[in-house]
Amino acid sequence: MKTVKTILEVREQVKKWRSEGLTVGFVPTMGYLHEGHASLIDTSHKDNDRTVVSVFVNPMQFSPNEDLESYPRDLEHDKALAEEHGCDMIFNPDPCEMYHENFSSFVDMTVLTEELCGLSRPIHFRGVCTIVSKLFNIVKPNKAYFGKKDAQQLAVIRHMVDDLNMDIEIIGCPIIRENDGLAKSSRNTYLNADERKSALVLSHSLEKGKELIKSGVKDCQEIISEIKSVIDSEPLAKIDYVKIVDEATMQQIESLDRPALCAMAVYIGKTRLIDNFFTEDI
Ligand code: AMP
Repeated sequence: MKTVKTILEVREQVKKWRSEGLTVGFVPTMGYLHEGHASLIDTSHKDNDRTVVSVFVNPMQFSPNEDLESYPRDLEHDKALAEEHGCDMIFNPDPCEMYHENFSSFVDMTVLTEELCGLSRPIHFRGVCTIVSKLFNIVKPNKAYFGKKDAQQLAVIRHMVDDLNMDIEIIGCPIIRENDGLAKSSRNTYLNADERKSALVLSHSLEKGKELIKSGVKDCQEIISEIKSVIDSEPLAKIDYVKIVDEATMQQIESLDRPALCAMAVYIGKTRLIDNFFTEDI
């Protein structure tokens, strides 16, 4: 496995693979890799001849009040994990390689980005769409792998690829959890011992929602208020949102009469965590 820092090196390597008739899978990440990322790399390795993983903490998707500076980084660990799971090349550019001084073009989206995380993180998806477009143009993969952990991001990327006719297949991969149910996240490292225990309220409350749905409840407000009451019973937790939306359009729905996403963002202390389930996966 090689680690490269320049766009030119990625292009030359991918061109060589392509000329040999090899297929390329791509896993974009912000690094500090864990088993969630590993599952994406495993799936790409299984589906493709070669796998590229990008490790880049993208400044453009963070607001000034967010955790860009403190976001955890450990490239040596990332290299070892990625190689173990079959990655062939890590692309780890410096910010100036991705954004030159006169950078002024953006990929933006309406509607899907105006719900859920888009409400509390207004510039986030513009940053995500821009960096993912750039990475797609650099790597030119056959397939790209995204976790259902970031369900809105997955929907936004699918929509962008469709709107802009990008010739890339987007594959959504299941959420990988700790043994006790907490969804794996690089941000879990921010939690102290008490907060780590409290953070279980996300997956526990989602389990409550799934039970209600399995028992036949279709009214979204009823499901949401039961989920919220579980979260409210945890003193360290503060709800940003709990919503049920159409899984493709991300618009809120009243009744479970179509494939839906139940998604939440909850502050545990200062750390904002997200979790969700798709009704089709219950
Ligand atoms: P990040 O490094 O947080 O930007 O995540 C990179 C990719 O890994 C995204 O597609 C995430 O959805 C995915 N990912 C992160 N955590 C998990 C998880 N627990 N299970 C599955 N995929 C994940």
